[in-house]
Amino acid sequence: MDTPEFVEFAKATIDYVADYTDSLRSRNVLPDVEPGYLSKLLPKEAPKKSERWQEVLKDVEQYIMPGITHWNSPHFHAYFPTANSYPAIVAEILSCAIGCIGFSWIASPACTELEVITCNWLGKLLGLPNEFLNCSSGTGGGVIQGSASECTFLCLLAAKEHTTRRMKRLHPEADENHIKSKLVAYTSNQSNSSVEKAGILGSMPMRLLPVDDKCSLRGETLKKAIQEDLEKGFIPCYVVATLGTTGTCAFDNIDEIGPICEEYNIWLHVDAAYAGAAFVCPEFRYLMSGVQYADSFNVNAHKWLLTNFDASVMWVKNSRRLIEAFSVNRIYLAHDKEGLVPDYRNWQIPLGRRFRSLKLWFVMRIYGVQGLQEHIRHTIKLAQLFEKYVRSDNRFEIVTEVVMGLVCFRIIGDNSLTKELLDRLQTRKQVYLVVGTYQHKLVARFVVCSRLCREEDIAFSWNEISSQTTEILQEKLH
Ligand code: PLP
Repeated sequence: MDTPEFVEFAKATIDYVADYTDSLRSRNVLPDVEPGYLSKLLPKEAPKKSERWQEVLKDVEQYIMPGITHWNSPHFHAYFPTANSYPAIVAEILSCAIGCIGFSWIASPACTELEVITCNWLGKLLGLPNEFLNCSSGTGGGVIQGSASECTFLCLLAAKEHTTRRMKRLHPEADENHIKSKLVAYTSNQSNSSVEKAGILGSMPMRLLPVDDKCSLRGETLKKAIQEDLEKGFIPCYVVATLGTTGTCAFDNIDEIGPICEEYNIWLHVDAAYAGAAFVCPEFRYLMSGVQYADSFNVNAHKWLLTNFDASVMWVKNSRRLIEAFSVNRIYLAHDKEGLVPDYRNWQIPLGRRFRSLKLWFVMRIYGVQGLQEHIRHTIKLAQLFEKYVRSDNRFEIVTEVVMGLVCFRIIGDNSLTKELLDRLQTRKQVYLVVGTYQHKLVARFVVCSRLCREEDIAFSWNEISSQTTEILQEKLH
């Protein structure tokens, strides 16, 4: 493909993207296909001869779109948002065109330096303590990872290395593998699946601790678990606290958890993958009270900050601990500016890395702080509107306090009613919600996800939910 043809192809694709975005409201949010649908439609082998781009683009609409779940539809209320915005999409194109692999400063100085700058911008914007920023004279700094899962796992590995070294200094005679076999991690039983997975991948038991009636992990519970483990000869190493759990958007009490981690020399990682975005608004920062105790903090710009996947921003107070755990050197990786700027390969698992900060930079500049704040406040206002609809209807109950963009509600009565509602909604494909639990009750999780969502969309989704509930309850009567 030569340059003129690329321009034609890319322009047609951008037109397609714009039309797709504008048509999202009128498409069913869930696809109507069965497993294996695509292999019945596409050839078994790759084409021998070049095909025209026009044919390929046509097949996107014909074959691919029918199998898409439209995460950016204003009627998508499942999981948490996946960010999407035009500035981020354009930045992705540019990042692909540059195509650098910025594992060290010299591998593309702008790639590293823009990442340092955007992580500082965002860290300041969220109100993180200065120790997390690269601009301070200390060892802190931010880095963009692919996912919150990676952040939790990376910090577990770094905590493991750090604690092992510390124990080795205290007990030089101790066997390193024996120390590692005694390490234990803690989180709440409400934390994201990726936290438990980090324990599995890092070969460290991850204790899932009980929570209070607000689904929040409390200091007392953590302390009790730590003391039990110390008595059994285990070594507490790592705690993951969540600000904004996936199930009910609960906030662990890091004001209580933090001092305990400090007392027992435990690495505290704060997973604020979703709700952390709200801290761009000063009025929500009370929810991260205690963040000064954290060793690491993570927010997914790719969830609620308009920056397309993948952009999971992680800050650490002491980047040396990452470098100690992850740096492996080779002669071909060396350069003469080492130590002056981060070589991000030592802050992550892979060697290669994408130029992700471009999209964060575009988003922060083109939306501005005000635009980002408006986006958060608008989402929360829409969630409150939905809450109002639910509260106005005595067939339903709101199950947990609505703090961010998530409303947990259920049909009053047996769990089977809420299950039936969610099943019907899924079959009808107009709106998409997923199930959660609260104290053995099934709940429907309604999340305001799409940046395109407006009041009329909330009314649309509510009408669908309400009318299906009427049908369910009428059928039960007969
Ligand atoms: N942590 C929380 C609180 C989440 O809600 C999620 C996903 O929804 C994750 C972690 C995992 O995020 P990622 O897909 O970036 O690994």
